[in-house]
Amino acid sequence: TTALLWLRRDLRLDDQAALYHALKAAEQVQPVFVFDRAILDALPRQDRRVEFIWETLAALKAELQALGSDVLVRHAVAAEEIPRLAQELGAQAVYTNADYEPAALARDAQVAAALAADGIDFHSSKDQVIFERDEVLTQAGRFFTVFTPYKNAWLKKLDPFYLQSYPVARYLPALRRCPAEPLPALSQLGFERSNLQQIGIKTGAAGASQLFEDFHDRIDNYKVARDYPGIKGVSYLSVHLRFGTVSVRRLASHAWQRGTAGSLCWLNELIWRDFYQQILWHRPDVVSHAFKPEYAQLTFPNDPALYAAWCEGRTGYPIVDAAMRQLNQTGFMHNRLRMVAASFLVKDLLIDWRWGERYFAEKLIDFDLAANNGGWQWAASTGCDAQPYFRIFNPVSQSERFDPEGRFIRRYVPELARLPTDALHAPWQAKPLVLAGAGIRLGQDYPEPVVDHATQRALALALFKRTG
Ligand code: FAD
Repeated sequence: TTALLWLRRDLRLDDQAALYHALKAAEQVQPVFVFDRAILDALPRQDRRVEFIWETLAALKAELQALGSDVLVRHAVAAEEIPRLAQELGAQAVYTNADYEPAALARDAQVAAALAADGIDFHSSKDQVIFERDEVLTQAGRFFTVFTPYKNAWLKKLDPFYLQSYPVARYLPALRRCPAEPLPALSQLGFERSNLQQIGIKTGAAGASQLFEDFHDRIDNYKVARDYPGIKGVSYLSVHLRFGTVSVRRLASHAWQRGTAGSLCWLNELIWRDFYQQILWHRPDVVSHAFKPEYAQLTFPNDPALYAAWCEGRTGYPIVDAAMRQLNQTGFMHNRLRMVAASFLVKDLLIDWRWGERYFAEKLIDFDLAANNGGWQWAASTGCDAQPYFRIFNPVSQSERFDPEGRFIRRYVPELARLPTDALHAPWQAKPLVLAGAGIRLGQDYPEPVVDHATQRALALALFKRTG
């Protein structure tokens, strides 16, 4: 018997659920990846994520070719190509790992139906989360909408069974032997190189293990260091979790067994990840609507000039600008800054959270619908378990607290680098002499603030009060 392994956000051979199930069930397993035109055609021609996948596939090909097999890589509409390929190879089944995004669910349903018409089975496994769908429910059998009780129930349910790795290696001889095929060039897919290599993003399973090794020694300090974008406090593994170049079971298991304050705090973040995935599963409408119905009617002024200033990192608030420039230049933004930048867009610039969500979705290399939507709705106070609307971040005090020496600001807003630290967080409040001493003319070398925080805060409160 032959099975097709359809790879998507699980680009690894280690501890891979669908691969394991396919290898155990079929005599020969053929891995395949489709650069899906239904997704790719709408993207800009330089996209770090497409390049990340492409480089990862190159490594995966080398691994599989060394075993006498290969991953077939196609550029087509996946919903059509998978049933076609399954037919062509005479497969009896297609194995894949579940993806909980509404569009992916619709695509998979379409593929499953097409396969069924040809008498081919479709198997979908849990792989990218520890607990999925309704595995963790309240006593009343409902899904959790508040994180802390979800986390408690999650931890209560956790036992080594759920963290066990799939012993894929011993079944690898069941990979289908096939002649090696070259990977289509990026240009054949219609894409150009981005700056992925220059910014040093490590791709593939090897990239993920390097990052994880580097984090090994830092995990115990995570609780203390995680909030400071100027230091290396976090794991930077999000892109690997996104594309499945690392197994979440291996990460969670490590953090759990280590059992230190730092490692458990990090495990908590992985639980947030599961939390938002199950929210998306139970409430797919959050993709375009506020989770809390009382905020469905919020109407924001949405000034396009303010939006452009935010996107381009020229709001005049150095911490926000540094954050947005980090995003634009590297495709990454530190979690603390995601919260600050998101809050600033919604509550200082009074722009619809969906605009910001869309911008992040375009730029983030780790873009994940569930986490991004959850994060935005949290910051906008429209989400489940969100920040209450009257708690509004002050961008200056956030800056003073979390970038106290201005290391992060100086890196991404170099025109302010020479300002003394106490003037760096709010340059418009600095004495003219101080600005002159650093060679800065506000309004020319660096913008005046585009809005006044106190004024906007009052407007935001009024806006939310009217609606909520
Ligand atoms: P670490 O601090 O090392 O955390 C480990 C892992 O836990 C992360 O890699 C991630 O997979 C997960 N995680 C951490 N925090 C969260 C969280 N709040 N929600 C869900 N999962 C989390 N994360 C994404 O992966 N993709 C997104 O598109 C995304 N958009 C966001 C948008 C906003 C407005 C906010 C506030 C947060 C967003 N996050 C998103 C969550 C978080 O900022 C990133 O996961 C984190 O910054 C990635 O860096 P790291 O891998 O070093 O994280």
